[in-house]
Amino acid sequence: MLIKKPLSMGLFLTYKCNAECQHCMYGCGPGWKADWIKLSDAEKIFASVSESIKGLPDNRIGINYGLHFTGGEPFLNFDLLLELTRLATRFNIPSLFVETNCFWCKDEETTEKKLLELKKAGLHGILISINPFILENVPFERTENCIRASERIFGVNVIVYQHYFYQIFKTLSIKTTMPAQRFFEKIPESLYYIELLPMGRTVYKLRHIFQKHKAEYFFGYNCREELFRNWHIHFDNYGNYIPGYCSGLSLGNINNIERLFTEFDTSKFPIIRALCTDIKKLYELGRKYGYDENEEGYISGCHLCLDIRKKIVSQTDRYFELRPREFYLSVT
Ligand code: SF4
Ligand code: SF4
Repeated sequence: MLIKKPLSMGLFLTYKCNAECQHCMYGCGPGWKADWIKLSDAEKIFASVSESIKGLPDNRIGINYGLHFTGGEPFLNFDLLLELTRLATRFNIPSLFVETNCFWCKDEETTEKKLLELKKAGLHGILISINPFILENVPFERTENCIRASERIFGVNVIVYQHYFYQIFKTLSIKTTMPAQRFFEKIPESLYYIELLPMGRTVYKLRHIFQKHKAEYFFGYNCREELFRNWHIHFDNYGNYIPGYCSGLSLGNINNIERLFTEFDTSKFPIIRALCTDIKKLYELGRKYGYDENEEGYISGCHLCLDIRKKIVSQTDRYFELRPREFYLSVT
């Protein structure tokens, strides 16, 4: 198998976050250690991918284009974010943007000042996350501060995701936080519009809103495409290459970054090999570590995959690809 250099990617500054959203794919939250990506590691990544990353014309931003700073919440360490932006700019990384939950936007003036500093350092835009789970943690007036200031600084290069919820929160004149449960009781139809990938923390915290199936329903499916696609991959702050949205899986480390992109020997990664063949193989491997099928069923193949990996991590540390191990404790 060959891992192609990425066309687009995210770089984790940290897994730490002020919030602990029920839907977080990467299990981020305040409980994580404040471990930050090292500038020297970021430099290795930029040097390796600067030629492969593809942006949009005029450095317009798009979710599956360019490079974005993410986590965890990048604005928990503004100085690092600024340094990383300067570094990425030295490597001419196109369509460079940051993703935020806006917790730090207490007033418009300081928000604008920080965004301006980032723009001067070379940042092209910003993605602002809005949904009922973020609303549980971040007062909506802060999100509005961020949107207004961002539009002044970055113009069209502001992505409000999901805009649908922005409009509803405005209509309801929400200013502070609100429990997600209360919001869904008020606007139940909004559940049909929320974009939730059935993986990460969602499979435990929000499984009640999904239809469930037995494990065998997912047998016969393999993840070769998700694991080896070269768009929207991530490197985390521990140097792990995280394929696609497959949190808790690492295909390699930046210490071997060039080898990562020239050879990938699946025989050294039994979990990845199983997932590339048939999810049933992972199930069989999990059984050897005492995994029992969940009687309640699974909302997705990713739910089954994560549940088995959690069991394996609790029994052994022999699999390099199950990283970072802390992730498995943070999704419950
Ligand atoms: S979804 Fe975003 S805001 Fe929520 S815990 Fe994860 S990183 Fe933090
Ligand atoms: S089943 Fe596992 S490997 Fe496959 S896409 Fe989901 S999380 Fe990734």
